[in-house]
Amino acid sequence: MLKGFFHVPKAVNEPVKSYAPNSPEKAAVQAAYTTMWNAQIDVPLYIGSEEIRTENTRNITAPHDHKHVVGKYHLAEKQHIEKAIANALEARKAWANMAWEQRAAIFLKAAELIAGPYRARINAATMIGQSKNIHQAEIDSSCELIDFLRYNVEFMTQIYNDQPKSDSSVWNRVEYRPLEGFVYAITPFNFTAIAANLPASAAMMGNVVVWKPSDSQVFSAKIIIDVFKEAGVPDGVINVVFGDALMITDTVLASRDFAGIHFTGSTHVFKDIWAKIGANIHNYKTYPRIVGETGGKDFIIAHPSANVKQVTTGITRGAFEFQGQKCSAASRAYIPQSLWPAVKEQLIADVKSMKMGSPEDFGNFITAVIHEGSFDKLASYIDQAKKDADAEIIVGGNYDKSVGYFIEPTVIVTTNPKYTTMETELFGPVITIYVYEDAKWEETLELVDTTSEYALTGAVFSQDRYAIEVATTKLQNAAGNFYINDKPTGAVVGMQPFGGARASGTNDKAGSALNLLRWASPRTIKETFVTPEDYRYPFLG
Ligand code: NAD
Repeated sequence: MLKGFFHVPKAVNEPVKSYAPNSPEKAAVQAAYTTMWNAQIDVPLYIGSEEIRTENTRNITAPHDHKHVVGKYHLAEKQHIEKAIANALEARKAWANMAWEQRAAIFLKAAELIAGPYRARINAATMIGQSKNIHQAEIDSSCELIDFLRYNVEFMTQIYNDQPKSDSSVWNRVEYRPLEGFVYAITPFNFTAIAANLPASAAMMGNVVVWKPSDSQVFSAKIIIDVFKEAGVPDGVINVVFGDALMITDTVLASRDFAGIHFTGSTHVFKDIWAKIGANIHNYKTYPRIVGETGGKDFIIAHPSANVKQVTTGITRGAFEFQGQKCSAASRAYIPQSLWPAVKEQLIADVKSMKMGSPEDFGNFITAVIHEGSFDKLASYIDQAKKDADAEIIVGGNYDKSVGYFIEPTVIVTTNPKYTTMETELFGPVITIYVYEDAKWEETLELVDTTSEYALTGAVFSQDRYAIEVATTKLQNAAGNFYINDKPTGAVVGMQPFGGARASGTNDKAGSALNLLRWASPRTIKETFVTPEDYRYPFLG
């Protein structure tokens, strides 16, 4: 039991390694890549202390070489989901009562394991399974994940320290209980860090979890599981299941002990889940916590005073890094007529200079998109833009899935500010640009605000402070993460708490104490030292 008010190590952001030629980190990740590329992994379900192999399996392949199989994973049946829930609830008895510093130590250890012995492996797994180039893998699967774990431990202690006032006659205390039941974590393919953080943040606060990773992220999920095991997460605290998302979700939501969902993924899936929770509300023991971060249609707007090179780099990095498969990726841009010729010229030159291919070749800025469904969807929007009179592709527009799911970084220019690709989240390396009249700055801000259902990220580029002020005010509700003179991607844990509103999610800000608070159910304890023994108040005379 606690006999001291312990301080956790001050959280610091993990430095991003360079992977420059001849660096030791480059040699280490290349060796890990080669080993993992040539091996076969077999990923079971992790339920309680058991590793369950159902023999109903699916192959794990690399998006940039989709015929190359690097392993397989086992698919759950309904009985496995029920078993995962039962195991979680059993594990809860000890875990929910474990002293917080023991939980903190487990997740701080996980952070150090990723920073050190697992770094090359988790980066290589993310390069192979999700087709990230080494820089994208490093900032996600190493740095962001380490930061989530370190900062969340610090945020947890800040929450526990937040206590009410007392006086000499009464001592008031608040304890931050875990939720009464289990938490369901559903994670997307695009960030290894998010995949680990959604179950870990709830578990850190004393909750038990059923975690369903994306089918397209199983390769790096296996490394996360290995790290959690080595760090000492007890059996049953985080149960991992793969398979039919609908069946798994319906089984989980049917449980009376379902106490919360930690979701990241697309908007329509989240809305469906919310509706199902609503329909089941009479069955639950508690009101489930619903936390979901979903889609975006993230913007860049340049004022006529903006610096052309800065705007263009905001577009190229913001739209095309990780093939535009970031919820924060810039996918619509508004450029004033006066700047357009210069922006266009540099944009075309920059995009043409981008090399595309396997992440194994460190010279490639662009690799493949995640799967065939995504490839086909992107190709169809590109084909449509080629036909539409109000759209023109000024660079890119080619695609090829013979080896990997490769889509060229593509820039569409439209004369219609409500053109479909200005409104719809495509989730790929495609940005659409609308060129506006310089005099219509405020009308264009209005357009930015009203064009899509989302409100995740957005950026304004300007050298004029008045223009920045107007944009910041007018776009107050258009983005949960708003950038001034910077690309709208790359939020850092502890620096830019991340999340959007409107259709983009519940805005519970991953990477901040706000998110962790959702996984606690505070209990207030009032203790009176000298307790009244007569009901009569003095006013009664
Ligand atoms: P997705 O919605 O296809 O899948 C996300 C998860 O939901 C996966 O585990 C998937 O198996 C599961 N799922 C799919 N259908 C389901 C259903 N009917 N019921 C229950 N679960 C279901 O999303 P994705 O392609 O993995 O990720 C891309 C999406 O995630 C984009 O829309 C992106 O904007 C969003 N995203 C948002 C954030 C954010 O912080 N706002 C971060 C990353 C990704």
